[in-house]
Amino acid sequence: MIHKGIKISTGLDWNKDRFKKDINSYKDGTELWIDVLVKPPTKTELQIRYIYVLLGYIAEETGYTKEQAKDKIKKKREYWEEYKDKKTGKPEKRIKSFRELLKEEANNWIDYLLDLCEALEIRVPCPNCGKPVSVSEIIKDKETSKLYCKYCINQIKQK
Ligand SMILES: [Zn+2]
Repeated sequence: MIHKGIKISTGLDWNKDRFKKDINSYKDGTELWIDVLVKPPTKTELQIRYIYVLLGYIAEETGYTKEQAKDKIKKKREYWEEYKDKKTGKPEKRIKSFRELLKEEANNWIDYLLDLCEALEIRVPCPNCGKPVSVSEIIKDKETSKLYCKYCINQIKQK
């Protein structure tokens, strides 16, 4: 009996037709193992939008363009990720794009940018209701990691 291993990951690169083709390429009676790897959740559009809203406020306050502010903050925070260079196969480091963030990483970015806004005394829109508030008035729901301001959190809790 030939033992073969197949790795399948769920998510964007899931390709049903290729999987069927792979499976059919083995003879009947071949024992196959399937590892299902579930990717951690990726950032949401809402998170990304809020990151750019905060960057816009910081840019306005500091006189940079949004792109300049973004580059400066990313370099300062040294938000690197490791990846394998396709040509050499060697591990390299690069600054991770916002578009590739995982959900938790996006939350960390939002926390970081909110701290910056607080240091710069910038009033920001509440991530939930949009009301302009100071950062100290923003509250994180511990269970969901969602952000509310002290004005709208009570309405949410009552529902
Ligand atoms: Zn609010």
